[in-house]
Amino acid sequence: MKFGDVPEHSFIEKALLVKAISDLAKLEGNSKRPVYAIHKWWARRLSSVIRALIIGIFLPEKTSEDDFWKAYYESCDLSGLTILDTFMGGGTCLVEAKKMKANVIGVDIDPLACFITKKEIEDCNELKLIRKYRILLKNVEEELKHYYITRIGDNFFEVVNFFWVYQLNCPKCNSPVFSHPHYYLAKDKNNMVAFCRYCGKIEELPSDRKMFVCGRCRKKTFIYKGSYKKGIATCINCGRSIAVAYNVSGTNSLKLFALEYIKDGKRFYKEADDYDIWLYEKAKMDFLRLSNRITLIPEDKIPINKSGDARPQNHGYLLFKDLFNERQLLSLSILLDNIMKIEEDDIREWFLLAFSDCLASNNMLCCYAYDYKS
Ligand SMILES: [Zn+2]
Ligand SMILES: [Zn+2]
Repeated sequence: MKFGDVPEHSFIEKALLVKAISDLAKLEGNSKRPVYAIHKWWARRLSSVIRALIIGIFLPEKTSEDDFWKAYYESCDLSGLTILDTFMGGGTCLVEAKKMKANVIGVDIDPLACFITKKEIEDCNELKLIRKYRILLKNVEEELKHYYITRIGDNFFEVVNFFWVYQLNCPKCNSPVFSHPHYYLAKDKNNMVAFCRYCGKIEELPSDRKMFVCGRCRKKTFIYKGSYKKGIATCINCGRSIAVAYNVSGTNSLKLFALEYIKDGKRFYKEADDYDIWLYEKAKMDFLRLSNRITLIPEDKIPINKSGDARPQNHGYLLFKDLFNERQLLSLSILLDNIMKIEEDDIREWFLLAFSDCLASNNMLCCYAYDYKS
């Protein structure tokens, strides 16, 4: 359907089909279109809603509901028309308008919004991108892969996740206090991977178990009775409660206790052992050793939220770089350094976008999907 100018009175002024459009949006919410997954955006509007709004603006008031849906599902042509979004955010409005062949102009105060939207509406040379990706992967892999392995006997395996926990010191009995919200790492409807609250030994159990006796120290662990709840950690030796805020200093207070690794294409879990801790310390030393070469780490402070929420600061995270441990800073800096060396602007920007998005899942405040066991 070819659209002309905006009618004097539009269809959406008469009847915006809120219920029917919401039903569509709910379906879309569970499976967003790939273009909208290229970078996180906060409270992104769904494309089905935006498409309905755009079409509703260009259809005259007297359009029937049936004709509205007909226009919605057939290909729409807004060529010759211009859509201006003065608060474009994640760019959904511009992408949908561009799909309908409109000229698009977007404005936003946030440079990240502008960057994401620019890439969403830009053409992408896939072949060139894949070729560059292979080169990038090869270069970065050589430098970093050896920091992400674990050793079992004489064999080495690739690690996909490291598990860290805050370690405090009990002011009453001087024991270490770990802030575990529960004592399992992964669970599906049949099995779970739990760990002993006293010695950390990992046990595979049926998923309906609530308690187990450790095969090593013979002590009981109640899997769902963690040592941490609502900001308070409890000493399992003497029962003393300690507020975690103000008593930890960011990543310095975190202890590596378990990891997830790949063997024969499948995922497994293990306790962190001396090798794993040594490897982390080695990465830390290498980070310090290479600090002259690493120049891309920002020194910006984390601003205190307008509502006065100072939780990062209360837990010792003052600068953005404090959200990452030294191994992450080392790896991310080397990756970014390699990306910045890409000469073609459009290709470099695609990798920068992916790099920016990956920071959300490669920092020390990430939560693991405990209830998703592959
Ligand atoms: Zn044990
Ligand atoms: Zn204690």
